[in-house]
Amino acid sequence: MRTDDADVLVIGAGVSGLTTAVRLAEADLRVRIWSADPAEATTCFAGGAMWGPYLVEPLDKVRIWSRQTLDELRKLARQPNMGVRLVAGIEASRMPAEPPECQRPV
Ligand SMILES: Cc1cc2nc3c(=O)[nH]c(=O)nc-3n(C[C@H](O)[C@H](O)[C@H](O)COP(=O)(O)OP(=O)(O)OC[C@H]3O[C@@H](n4cnc5c(N)ncnc54)[C@H](O)[C@@H]3O)c2cc1C
Repeated sequence: MRTDDADVLVIGAGVSGLTTAVRLAEADLRVRIWSADPAEATTCFAGGAMWGPYLVEPLDKVRIWSRQTLDELRKLARQPNMGVRLVAGIEASRMPAEPPECQRPV
């Protein structure tokens, strides 16, 4: 594997790796991505997903990161052909449940 033409080697081509690679490229670094599988084989490819933090800490930072992520997703959804579309939904439970932490008032 050649890495001498890159400043950074990102390992993994899922949402974490690709997002990291884009941010580094936007900072004018030469980025090479290496992945065991093609991007089409990652967990996050072509799946519908709910926005919201789950089992991550520290909560004070997670609140900020989550909002920033939602803002980015909304920006992407406003552009054509970005592969991001926002849809409303209802999360239901057979038992009484509290709203997710990120949706509680600050
Ligand atoms: C069924 C299911 C439902 C989910 N639902 C949601 C949801 O609703 N909302 C949500 O936010 N999240 C959800 N998640 C979680 C979310 O999909 C993952 O957290 C996210 O996709 C992980 O992205 P990633 O880039 O970190 O990892 P991945 O997408 O798994 O990518 C990992 C990358 O690393 C590469 N790699 C792995 N090992 C090596 C190695 N040794 N050498 C080189 N490359 C390697 C792989 O080839 C791949 O390119 C769900 C996950 C699952 C399984």
